[in-house]
Amino acid sequence: MTNRSLVQLVKAPLPSDSANCLRSGAYPPYNLTSIATYLKEKSDLDVQIIDGEILSLDEIIASLHPQGIIGISSTSLAYPAALKIAQASKEKDSFVILGGIHAYHLPNEILESRKFIDVVVHGQGEEAFRELVNGENIHNIPNITFRDKNKIVSNPSRVINQRDLPFPNFSLVSDLNRYFQNFQKHYGYKRKDGKGLPVYSSSGCLYRLKTGGCEFCSIPNQPYSIVRPEQYWRIVERLNQEFGANFIWDISDTYTSNKEWVRRVSESKPKGISTSFNVYGRVDDINPEMLGYLKKIGVLELLLGVESFYDPTLKSINKGYTAERAKQSLRLLREFGINVELSLVLGNTGETEESLKRTLEICETLQELDNIDENHCSILIPLPGSKVYRKLMEDLDLRKKYGRDLIDYERLQIEFLDRYTLCGASKVFEYYNKIEKLFNPAGAFYSPKNSQFYTQGRFRDDLA
Ligand code: SF4
Repeated sequence: MTNRSLVQLVKAPLPSDSANCLRSGAYPPYNLTSIATYLKEKSDLDVQIIDGEILSLDEIIASLHPQGIIGISSTSLAYPAALKIAQASKEKDSFVILGGIHAYHLPNEILESRKFIDVVVHGQGEEAFRELVNGENIHNIPNITFRDKNKIVSNPSRVINQRDLPFPNFSLVSDLNRYFQNFQKHYGYKRKDGKGLPVYSSSGCLYRLKTGGCEFCSIPNQPYSIVRPEQYWRIVERLNQEFGANFIWDISDTYTSNKEWVRRVSESKPKGISTSFNVYGRVDDINPEMLGYLKKIGVLELLLGVESFYDPTLKSINKGYTAERAKQSLRLLREFGINVELSLVLGNTGETEESLKRTLEICETLQELDNIDENHCSILIPLPGSKVYRKLMEDLDLRKKYGRDLIDYERLQIEFLDRYTLCGASKVFEYYNKIEKLFNPAGAFYSPKNSQFYTQGRFRDDLA
């Protein structure tokens, strides 16, 4: 492997019916940029980033070099495309590495079924990649799963603290302007002169570490680490000076959970910075003190994971707050002039028509608030790594059908909705269609609303 001199890092594209999310192509991929930066700093390999939010699957496959090292990052929904890219890479005699959230949760299942994938990265990829491309002893490389003769071997995890990772070098992304143009096209209303780049200030979710987390969440359960406040501002300043970025999307799981850090960031803000921020927040972290800090930092909008406005549903999914608290947080955000991307998840365990109706009614009353500028409403999909997926896999029949690497999520979603909600899948879809329209829809990352497989609550005959 050491004689291979080109590494191509590929973000697998989502299926076409769920890829039309507003955010698509508006920001370059952070994780691949971070791995590319790390590799460039520690080796003399050529590294190329190929982004499935910008290029089609055919274009990606056409751009694969022979006899290279291909690292593919894939979400669970993009996994079918990742397999096509991996197979095409292997046909060109490349060494194929798969990472990302799907690989994190199902490394063994993937290697058992896909001979054209050589190694799965089941954790943070920077150091694993560096050691792999350097040809180090595979048994000592952290965060990887691989085949050793007829056995599948998983090496232990090793995590690098966020603060020890190098500044992400976005000059390794070709045609950064294309992302800035997309940002203007999709998000020009947020900031007229906006040029967006992502930042990852903290890994891990403190709420999940404390409580086990939300029932539908499939985000990897990583140890918590966070950059220093001064370092945060240095990153923001460099992104502005070197690339012209003035709008930061902080992709950390929850920005608001570490109040002390947010306070220190707000108090250490250097003079003259006019960068805007988009961050993720939890309902129960929102209070006047927190909003004062966020305002001072320059947070223009916050994605608020409300999920439901019905208390028994919130309890069943372990959100840790009430509907009243969620409404209060939304009102406070309005008072402080911070816009909201409202996240709702329909079809949770125990969902009833009453709970959906209640969520719809509250959303209707929220229309009077003029600061909800995006609606991230979705229908629950039991993704690997989530508690709901594990619950389904306890059933042996379901495990036989879905306990593999390649999962028919549309069917699995219906199985879940019909088994675990009290109203059934059709009602969930009916209310989804009503609620989604109430605010500016962010697009369908998780909703097969254009699906060819599902119409009006029933499988099409040819697929039943
Ligand atoms: S949904 Fe958000 S708050 Fe809940 S466990 Fe996942 S990352 Fe944490």
